[in-house]
Amino acid sequence: MRPARALIDLNALRHNYRLAREVSGAKALAVVKADAYGHGAVRCAEALQGEADGFAVACIEEALQLRAAGIRRPILLLEGFFEASELELIEQHDLWCVLHSLWQVEALLQAPLRKPLTVWLKLDSGMHRVGLHPEDYAAAYRGLQASGKVARIVLMSHFARADELDCPRSEEQLAVFEQARAGLDAEISLRNSPAVLGWPNMPSDWVRPGIMLYGASPFEQAQALAAQLQPVMTLQSKVISVRELPAGEPVGYGARFISERPTRVGVVAMGYADGYPRHAPTGTPVAIDGQLARIIGRVSMDMLTVDLSDLPQAGLGSRVELWGKQVLASEVAAQAGTIPYQIFCNLRRVPLSYS
Ligand SMILES: *Cc1c(COP(=O)(O)O)cnc(C)c1O
Repeated sequence: MRPARALIDLNALRHNYRLAREVSGAKALAVVKADAYGHGAVRCAEALQGEADGFAVACIEEALQLRAAGIRRPILLLEGFFEASELELIEQHDLWCVLHSLWQVEALLQAPLRKPLTVWLKLDSGMHRVGLHPEDYAAAYRGLQASGKVARIVLMSHFARADELDCPRSEEQLAVFEQARAGLDAEISLRNSPAVLGWPNMPSDWVRPGIMLYGASPFEQAQALAAQLQPVMTLQSKVISVRELPAGEPVGYGARFISERPTRVGVVAMGYADGYPRHAPTGTPVAIDGQLARIIGRVSMDMLTVDLSDLPQAGLGSRVELWGKQVLASEVAAQAGTIPYQIFCNLRRVPLSYS
């Protein structure tokens, strides 16, 4: 059997969830959209079911998968519904629903509901992606309150630049939010992972941690609280072939690496078809039997190559950590010019195993 595996440490997931709640002093929706950022939404939700205040997903398809697996806690649809016809299922499965656009507010007001829903009314406080315009916000809130269609409204917004710790934009967004919600008596929710970890003074009744649950830092720089996160996923495989090259020999497609010295090359069963980033250049770290090494040459579809020259003990069958507790996913992502969010979400073909 091909040795590529993603090991998922559910105790680390619980540790990270508790950290989000502890540092924020708020209730926390565990964001498990996109199959829990590649970690397996059902298994992650089951692991948190006993303690999570609720879950958040992108769409009803993801929510129904959790309900079908027996997840009974609240589930928030972060983009609400895409068509008004989804409201029947939202009601039937007791889902919470973001309203991010006036057309959604209108559709809800028109919908024939048997019982009132919990909605999260989203403000565009400056990210300019989704969310109601500040001028429409209070009126929409009051319209919903008066309609009898909602049981509870949480006021929410989303930061565009919370991962930039010395950028004033999050404070500016907060000021827009505070002005738009003046006089509205409801719970609020503003903070994603970077805001939970890096913006301790942001008010919130509810936080919405995603990437931090999986143990990756949302920041490019080192940050004290982010250092307390425990990586959840270990992406690993094995060395399946070894060869000795003299100096001056090319390795792999495009001869992107040429040996400068006699080089022992290890071939690892892991490639871009597994989600390992093809843009990871020579020098990207890996750990081989617990020792740091680097990849060399181009990543191919099913294999990549590593330099074993300085690891005489390593060889055929050596265990390779592509990312995990020793090599951080955020380091690999940075080398490949992307973010840990994307390399987790890109994971495919690799069997997940849980402990
Ligand atoms: C995805 C998402 C989050 C989680 O963001 P992280 O940066 O992964 O913590 C929070 N809120 C909303 C609205 C989202 O779409």
